[in-house]
Amino acid sequence: MQISFSGLRALVTGAGKGIGRDTVKALRDSGAQVVAVSRTKEDLVSLSKERPGIEPVCVDLGDWEATERALGNIGPIDLLVNNAAVLLEQPFLEVSKEAFDRTINVNLRSVIQVSQMVAKGMIARGVPGSIVNVSSIVSRAAIFCLTSYSSTKGAMDMLTKIMALELGPHKIRVNTVNPTVVLTHMGRRVTNHTELAKYLKERTPLNKFAEVEDVVNSILFLLSDKSAMTNGSGILVDGGYLAC
Ligand code: NDP
Repeated sequence: MQISFSGLRALVTGAGKGIGRDTVKALRDSGAQVVAVSRTKEDLVSLSKERPGIEPVCVDLGDWEATERALGNIGPIDLLVNNAAVLLEQPFLEVSKEAFDRTINVNLRSVIQVSQMVAKGMIARGVPGSIVNVSSIVSRAAIFCLTSYSSTKGAMDMLTKIMALELGPHKIRVNTVNPTVVLTHMGRRVTNHTELAKYLKERTPLNKFAEVEDVVNSILFLLSDKSAMTNGSGILVDGGYLAC
């Protein structure tokens, strides 16, 4: 399926590594202008070398004021991928205020903040738009030690529906992708627990984890007009994990 984003400008958060980084590259290769937002400057420098012409923005999305300063005047955006997240593992009885607040601020609050900025711009310009929120299977299935992280993903699925409801009349679609484990920097934190990794894989009908490309392909589909009637919905990229 050939998708062109020529003439459109996209913003991707968490663009320095993993799924966000490959999403930036795929969007650029499909003709989009891309604003790449991430926290570590070196990642953005190397990404700019790999894909000249992207617009790097270095900011900690967990910091509301810094995000306002960095993205407040970002200009017209047609496509948004809310992908940045942190995963801080703690057993439920040991969840700390600091870890919970940090997780909420990065994984959820920044999604609201960045989406507001972008959607207001779309509405002011009177153009359609598409927003993809990168969620997870843990929004729907419990895994040990992920209280803070899973809570933000569960909330993100509902946030997506509310955004779809309120932004739909402005021709802005909002959807999620919900991947299983992907072997990125973050995913390896889960698979480092050998027993857990074995259990997760064996419970998956396809008996494997997702590739970054599997997730990126679903993001591109949801961003594109190929999914023009899909709104407030989500694509499971889970090899059937949640089917059982
Ligand atoms: P990675 O940890 O590999 O990459 C995350 C990126 O987000 C990094 O570039 C990171 O920058 C950036 N980021 C994190 N916090 C902030 C912040 N406060 N401000 C700006 N940028 C930030 O993660 P993945 O690529 O694996 O994950 C991407 C998305 O996919 C996340 O939403 C995750 O929840 C979701 N997901 C991942 C799964 C997996 O198994 N990998 C499974 C299901 C969902 P830095 O490194 O500099 O902090």
